[in-house]
Amino acid sequence: MSKTHWKKLTNPDYIGAYALDPGQEPVYTIKSVVREIVTGPDGKKEECTVIHFAENVKPMILNSTNSKTITKLYKTPYIEEWAGRKIQIYATEVKAFGEVVDALRIKPTIPQQTITVTKCTDCDKEIQAAGKMNAQQVAQYTYSRYGKALCSDCATKAKIAEDALKIADPLAALAAEPMPEEESEPTKGDEPVDLDNI
Ligand SMILES: [Zn+2]
Repeated sequence: MSKTHWKKLTNPDYIGAYALDPGQEPVYTIKSVVREIVTGPDGKKEECTVIHFAENVKPMILNSTNSKTITKLYKTPYIEEWAGRKIQIYATEVKAFGEVVDALRIKPTIPQQTITVTKCTDCDKEIQAAGKMNAQQVAQYTYSRYGKALCSDCATKAKIAEDALKIADPLAALAAEPMPEEESEPTKGDEPVDLDNI
């Protein structure tokens, strides 16, 4: 018998922890990340960062915790570079205002799957065999390494970008580059922000 969580009835426009069945951890592809006005179930309007997915699913409001997870996962804080990447979401319990509530989280690992695409996600050229790897193996390798299938040229660029970030100390680089969301929420701690996604 399928059961209905009461929260499933209250927030119909965006994916939240309420939308996942127990144990369900779907993988979705980021189509775009935008700022948009979100109307809450109570009618209150608020500007939020929102992920739209390539799959036919509802968009997801992105809080700072999940933004940081994507930044670590794909080694870039720039939302334009998140397009085309896959994330796996799950529901977990977090403490907020002394209460335990359900929150939507992104897994800190790149979702693994068999890659069948033959074109480079970045430059749209046909992926060629490289060294001992055939084209499919190159696509699979670059996907597991960078989260998107890349040709050797784009993989080299991705590697250089990643090394540059490492040399600069990734944590310091991220700290020096606050995300827009954090600027607009100066004194809020991390956990209250989780309420965005309930
Ligand atoms: Zn390419």
